[in-house]
Amino acid sequence: MKELARILERIDGRGYKAYRDIRGTWSFPDFELIVDHVQADPFAAPSRLRAVVSWNTASLPDAFFSSAPRTRAARDYIARAFRAAAAGSKALGIDAGAQTVLERTAVLFTDAGVELRYTVHLPGRGRTILGHQARTLLCEQLPEIIREAATAERLDLAAMQRHAEVVEDQVALRAALDEQGLVAFVGDGALLPRRSGVDDRPLEGAIPFQAPDTLRVELEAPNGGRYSGLGIRNGITLIVGGGFHGKSTLLSAIELGVYDHVPGDGREAVVTEPSAVKIRAEDGRAVHAVDLSPYINNLPYGKSTKDFSTELASGSTSQASALQEALEADARTVLVDEDTSATNFMIRDERMQTLVAREQEPITPFVDRIRQLRDEVGVSTLLVMGGSGDYFDCADTVIQMQEYLPRDVTETARRIAREHVTGRREEAESSLQRPAPRSLDTASLQPEVKPGKRKLQARGCDTMVFGRETVDLRAVEQLVDSSQVRAIALILARLAQRPETISNPPEWVAEMLEETGLVELAFRPDGDLALPRVAEVMAALNRLRTAGFVGKVTRGK
Ligand code: ADP
Ligand code: MG
Repeated sequence: MKELARILERIDGRGYKAYRDIRGTWSFPDFELIVDHVQADPFAAPSRLRAVVSWNTASLPDAFFSSAPRTRAARDYIARAFRAAAAGSKALGIDAGAQTVLERTAVLFTDAGVELRYTVHLPGRGRTILGHQARTLLCEQLPEIIREAATAERLDLAAMQRHAEVVEDQVALRAALDEQGLVAFVGDGALLPRRSGVDDRPLEGAIPFQAPDTLRVELEAPNGGRYSGLGIRNGITLIVGGGFHGKSTLLSAIELGVYDHVPGDGREAVVTEPSAVKIRAEDGRAVHAVDLSPYINNLPYGKSTKDFSTELASGSTSQASALQEALEADARTVLVDEDTSATNFMIRDERMQTLVAREQEPITPFVDRIRQLRDEVGVSTLLVMGGSGDYFDCADTVIQMQEYLPRDVTETARRIAREHVTGRREEAESSLQRPAPRSLDTASLQPEVKPGKRKLQARGCDTMVFGRETVDLRAVEQLVDSSQVRAIALILARLAQRPETISNPPEWVAEMLEETGLVELAFRPDGDLALPRVAEVMAALNRLRTAGFVGKVTRGK
């Protein structure tokens, strides 16, 4: 440390490039400081550093190592503790996440100890090094922050314990869904609405969730004991209710129930089976070789939809594609909201059937496939639909949101369906299967903008830059962290390195994440990665306009 301090004093007043002298490893009293990357100038992306605190110095209680979820939560907590301790310094940054506790690379537990990966804006005035300031920052402030974030002596162990328990419980609740025949669970007392579209914290004064007695279930978790709440069963569940009564808010919380949330988020007891995918309309997106024939057939002039590609999908085409892509990536549950659906994909009522003959309508609406999806493919659907009663006939459960609280109206909806028989005819003619994976020509993936120069970036959760292409991810609603988007770009770059054609891309991604892991994904030590699901990796790949997918069915048939 003394040597580093001496160098920083020596380069004070020199050109910014001289900061390169601090690259390497330095021994501090409580940790090893590793300077991996020094920014080229004060305006470039900040420098990347690590600190490794030995296990002996960290002295973390055994309670954080008794299960994988606890360990993940402990690492997450340490990253947040670093961020809190560094809050006074604009120069220091760590990728500690927001409302979710994801597997991420900001803090790792290694053989050597607790490794923290963070960024530092090395101080300068214009391009001149401010060496004294840098010495204060790295040799005085930083050690204090590291002690605060990564030693039992200084951490708030009670809060850290709570963090770990809450995460462990969510994992347990999610794991308990299947044997109870549930696809999702919303705990009593949960706070679902968010403050605003740009503020993901819980809305103050929100009405706490309360399950109706007829749909209440109990799940067991190791720390919180028995949790009671609404159980969403396998099969077809309809959420109805007047506008503004909280339907979409409930569905959004369930969408994000595939992730664990931090204590105080309000959604700590909202869990969803891990393969659930929100599907929606997204006109304008690209579609590659997807078999849309169960939903769209008999296009004008006999164009085939078994192997359908377009640069400019319509609302219904994009939603049918999203569904097929989700099933291809092994989704067992699909989530649909009328707010983000194409009407002609969802419904086609009796009057329209009478006016426009079956032969003249390429679309088989979802309402005529949803039962097959359940019975022939084994996929559950949770659907928000306040605008049409045509789904009453097929729903297993109907929940009405009324002033933000759910009511079980299944029996009433059944009676109405019996009494108000619609004259609409079912339009599904063929059987339904899970679509086979399309193979991917890896040569189509071009992460480089020029030889040897990759461009892989995230702009928030909405945009991924991959080589020369910019991918719009706004409709991929189950992405919660820009660091997931960065990880996806790296996964696609790894995929691009494969010489062969990949016959089952979702399986390849799953295995690669299993074998390589998030940490090894980066081409150099990187603290800004968070784990995406396979579904979101595939969603990004499916939206990459240059992706070379090859359908499993032969063209023209
Ligand atoms: P819907 O989909 O039924 O039209 P939304 O879910 O969009 O309704 O909710 C309408 C508004 O009500 C939103 O601004 C939302 O934040 C708010 N809201 C939803 N649930 C609650 C709740 N439990 N307590 C307070 N406000 C809520
Ligand atoms: Mg809505």
